Amino acid sequence: MHEVSIALGMVEELKRIAAENNAKKVTNVKLKIGKMSGIVTDSLIFAFDAVKLEHPLLSSATISVDEVPLVYACSKCGKAFETDDLYPASCPDCNSYNLKILSGEEQHIENVEVEV
Ligand SMILES: [Zn+2]
Repeated sequence: MHEVSIALGMVEELKRIAAENNAKKVTNVKLKIGKMSGIVTDSLIFAFDAVKLEHPLLSSATISVDEVPLVYACSKCGKAFETDDLYPASCPDCNSYNLKILSGEEQHIENVEVEV
């Protein structure tokens, strides 16, 4: 499962953040995950809840996920539009094929709360 390796990477990053802040515990973790990132958020939370137990620093951390919608912008007419289609064919306004992703590829830790 792809999400387990992401959760393990998160654990490493959270341990580093905790050390930098001389934290005794990580209490809250907020993630930003884009629709386009390919991550199944439920699976990621499940994986994190499993791997965190091996790390006293993280074992009581709760995790929440901000899902970022997929937004494309048309390079021709400038229209930005939200879509569930990972690869929209063309701009809904001018039918241009010249589209670029504005958001939806995010995959990072947005915020960490710690106890010092
Ligand atoms: Zn357009």
